[in-house]
Amino acid sequence: MRFLSLLMLLVFTQACAQNTKDPVPFEALWKKDASQYGLDKDFLDRSEQGQRALISALTGASPIQDSKSIQRRWTTEERALSRQYLSKELEKMGLNTIELPYEMNLPQLNKQQNPAKGTNLYAVVESTNGSNEYIVLGAHYDTVEEAPGASDNASGCALVYAVAKAMMQQKQRSKNLMIVFFDKEEIGHAGATAFAQFLLEQQYNIHSVHTADQVGWDQDGDRNIELELPGPELKAVYRKHAKTFDIKAYRTNETGSDHKELRAAGFNAVGITEEYRRGDTSPYHHDPEDKFETINFDYLSFVSYFVFKVLVGLMETN
Ligand SMILES: [Zn+2]
Repeated sequence: MRFLSLLMLLVFTQACAQNTKDPVPFEALWKKDASQYGLDKDFLDRSEQGQRALISALTGASPIQDSKSIQRRWTTEERALSRQYLSKELEKMGLNTIELPYEMNLPQLNKQQNPAKGTNLYAVVESTNGSNEYIVLGAHYDTVEEAPGASDNASGCALVYAVAKAMMQQKQRSKNLMIVFFDKEEIGHAGATAFAQFLLEQQYNIHSVHTADQVGWDQDGDRNIELELPGPELKAVYRKHAKTFDIKAYRTNETGSDHKELRAAGFNAVGITEEYRRGDTSPYHHDPEDKFETINFDYLSFVSYFVFKVLVGLMETN
């Protein structure tokens, strides 16, 4: 008898736990939330299609330019083709893109790796009120030599793309959104280091910096994310919005990505990723199997929307 009630309790708790993550109500909740920003189901579907096309082109699953395909984004030529492709996609949205080449000696690199040489790409979604304040959202577009880099980090590039697209739809933006694709994260975070220096030299008024790296894997379907070393305010804002969707935004001490260099330069920076430290992360990291087919587009498009919502919230605060 006791065993039976325990069993029934177990079945009941299981049912409740599953219920909270039932895909139908979640989808409805998400679409309803998006409608307050003027983003209807059609827009979100098209945005996800755009993310599929972008990751497909960046990983060689489809041609990146006419009949040209790339296998990874490691060589100078592959990275140049990737930048051209990303530029074209942003220009289709109505953004002007700027290439920012750099060449500098970095203390984190060894003699053979120095001087670091690469090209960052950025664009600005301008504020509608003349504000000179900027929120920066970035992702690295390069890969290691062995991998096509769907998860690492075409997924982060696709997030930046979708957030920019949704931000362009907003009638009011009380801060500028600067989006950036960093070159050579895989070699000592070189691109992010160079970009941090550029922001300091140009004396931009930066509110905060958010970088995305590996946001395409969610095996357990809980839609949780990790925040890498957020300051207290950023952590609070991400968590407030996570509550809306009953998801977790775990804080970790991970320093292995671009946000580290922005923080080192004095910016209020955070890294956004799948459950990397908690183990719900792509098993194909830096592997030839890090392919288009492994990306969970439902998760990627949701996390992209979530980051968009967080940034809109931050734009409204002082
Ligand atoms: Zn990465």
